Amino acid sequence: MKSFLLSIFIFHSLFSFEYTVEPTKISDDIHCFFGAPEVMDEHNNGNIVNSCFVDLGKSYLVIDTGPSYKYARDTHKAMNKIKNQKVSHVIITHIHDDHWLGNGYYQEHGSLIIGPEIFANTPKSEKTRMQQYISPEAYEGTHEVFPTELVDGEKTLEIDGVKLELKAYKHNIHSPNDMVIYIPSKEVVFAGDLVFNERILSLKGGHINNWIKAIEDIESKNMKYVIGGHGPLYTKESTDVTREYLADVKAFVLDSIDEGLDIIDTLEVSDMPKYQDLKLYEMMHRVNVESAYRTLEWGDE
Ligand SMILES: [Zn+2]
Repeated sequence: MKSFLLSIFIFHSLFSFEYTVEPTKISDDIHCFFGAPEVMDEHNNGNIVNSCFVDLGKSYLVIDTGPSYKYARDTHKAMNKIKNQKVSHVIITHIHDDHWLGNGYYQEHGSLIIGPEIFANTPKSEKTRMQQYISPEAYEGTHEVFPTELVDGEKTLEIDGVKLELKAYKHNIHSPNDMVIYIPSKEVVFAGDLVFNERILSLKGGHINNWIKAIEDIESKNMKYVIGGHGPLYTKESTDVTREYLADVKAFVLDSIDEGLDIIDTLEVSDMPKYQDLKLYEMMHRVNVESAYRTLEWGDE
């Protein structure tokens, strides 16, 4: 009896928490769940990141699986109300764990999980960021599951007649190995965290010049839609704020270096009113300027 009650309890607690998720229709065969422009906490439970579903005809392709097992389960459930089908493939854009902690759900589900090469030489963490900041109920059932098929550089895939072009950049941009997915027939680029809108981007640990080049690369594709890792814009113009912000930060920092200002003095005068309305500006703008300064003080390359 005791173990029966215990198993009811476990069953109940495993399934009682649900994310409130609502897909946005991008085109006939693309839907995305757009996360809040916030930092992960016990209120948003990690629903701060984008996850997209592409209807391949007989199955879905998922781009980024989000912050937890339950998030992945709940987004797939919401998609099944639109068209009930299996997720045959998952593609992860980069190593930051807000984008792939839903992988465990898809591993159980039998999906093939693809990601950039960096997963091969990254140790699993003792405690993930999500585990530290979101509620235990929301995190429950989540395990670190890495992609099993890794992409080193560029790769073309064909799934059910749909051609996909994957490009995993080998140098540091937003992260050490960001991957972009281009689907020519659907005129869409999934840019991961190389594109942010509505909130300020994160250049911490990244490389401003490489990022500026990567944005040019993304914009050179023939597409109608560009969907980033954070922010709800999805047309071609969704790259505007990322491109302009990086260019403005770079110009400001180069001027400052030219004038002989050190990093402390540079940060002191680094406010950019043009971007103050972007979410997380207070928290991240100075960190971004500092990162740009560290990169650019060694020369503009
Ligand atoms: Zn992210």
